[in-house]
Amino acid sequence: MTISCARSELKTNMQEYDPNSLTVVEALQRIEDVIQPLDGRETIALREGLGRVLAEDIRSTSNVPAHTNSAMDGYAVSRGDLPMSGTRELRVVGTAWAGTPFSGTVKPGECARIMTGAMLPAGTDTIVMQEQAERDGDIIRIGAGHKPGQHVRQAGEDLAVGEVALPAGMRIGPAQLGLLASLGIKEVTAFQLPRVAVFTTGDELRSLGESLGPGEIYDSNRYALYGMLARLGIEPMDLGIVRDRRDDVEAAFLRAAAMADVVITSGGVSVGEADFVKETLEKLGKVNFWKIAMKPGRPLAFGKINNTWFFGLPGNPVSVMTTFYQLVQPALRRLMGQPKTSDILFKVPCASRLKKAPGRMEFQRGVLERDAAGQLIVRSTGEQGSGILSSMSEANCFIVLPMEAGNVEAGILVDVQVFEGVI
Ligand code: AMP
Ligand code: MG
Repeated sequence: MTISCARSELKTNMQEYDPNSLTVVEALQRIEDVIQPLDGRETIALREGLGRVLAEDIRSTSNVPAHTNSAMDGYAVSRGDLPMSGTRELRVVGTAWAGTPFSGTVKPGECARIMTGAMLPAGTDTIVMQEQAERDGDIIRIGAGHKPGQHVRQAGEDLAVGEVALPAGMRIGPAQLGLLASLGIKEVTAFQLPRVAVFTTGDELRSLGESLGPGEIYDSNRYALYGMLARLGIEPMDLGIVRDRRDDVEAAFLRAAAMADVVITSGGVSVGEADFVKETLEKLGKVNFWKIAMKPGRPLAFGKINNTWFFGLPGNPVSVMTTFYQLVQPALRRLMGQPKTSDILFKVPCASRLKKAPGRMEFQRGVLERDAAGQLIVRSTGEQGSGILSSMSEANCFIVLPMEAGNVEAGILVDVQVFEGVI
């Protein structure tokens, strides 16, 4: 994310600009300045490592592959026997299977039948694919045009002995699980997962299964938060709904801080009559900031109570998700041991006209798709109110509009940040 204009230039012509707020970039920077990976390390079975972050470099203790082997089913030959023109006949003297090598030596004028993954027999260095050899009894006939050394996987070509196969700080995904297994590694040392406690605040909130009175709503934020945390591999401790009473909010914060490394709450951070989160945090801990020039999600408290980080997110459901993805998730990844990652934004034409007032960075919800001509475009999900959770559910990306931008006319290039990739 880049904000192309200096802060001093922002003050004028910015209907939405609040001089007490931080930009998203500044807020992220402040978070990154103070958050370090947790100290704890854990040695766990390989499969349990999925989603965890390596606490140590993994060095290869052997070559991968361990032996030079065939990439194809076919015949192992010596390059000296490849005809320059016309054809040549070679006698098949044995078979090399994956796991059962051919123990003999292949001499000039001979070859061995070989399967994918089998070690190359002594005397051979090149594979001729079976489709390119004519076989008649124990004789094969091959033509010209083969490259010396073709279809051979060299020992150590993936990883050489002693090489760093995976660096500390790397998150283990399916490819890393496979790679670790290929090195014969059964256990990994990972950073401890942060213990995260979650509660929501609001007199209007009811839990699922309860009936709704006038003006009451179901607490959806706890579910969205659960989902976002679970995707990071974190099972949150759910402290339920806390009523809008000063004492209750304070007690909940103390309880949460005593049991967790991170406390995440929703609601009560605006400046309404029943918003006690901010003042409680100021009383109990240190608030690093609480206002960000972003939309949705302007009020957001970040700070520390004793040794526990807290994020007081806004109450509106879309604000919760946006602030989580833009600010809380990077912080949690850092605590989990991952290095700072850069955002992947790219520009595509926007098929919709977008309403925006200058002064805040906006994370509008978009659908990235192909138009009739096959061109990648993004369109708005429509209504962008911070209470409209269906906009998040319909979207597959954020449309990220810089602080100084005003309305966006259809056809203009905009930055998008996609929700999901392939893996
Ligand atoms: P607040 O920040 O507490 O003023 O809440 C802002 C808006 O978000 C209000 O309309 C609340 O009813 C709504 N809201 C707050 N918490 C939740 C929640 N846990 N689930 C769904 N909506 C909520
Ligand atoms: Mg509230």
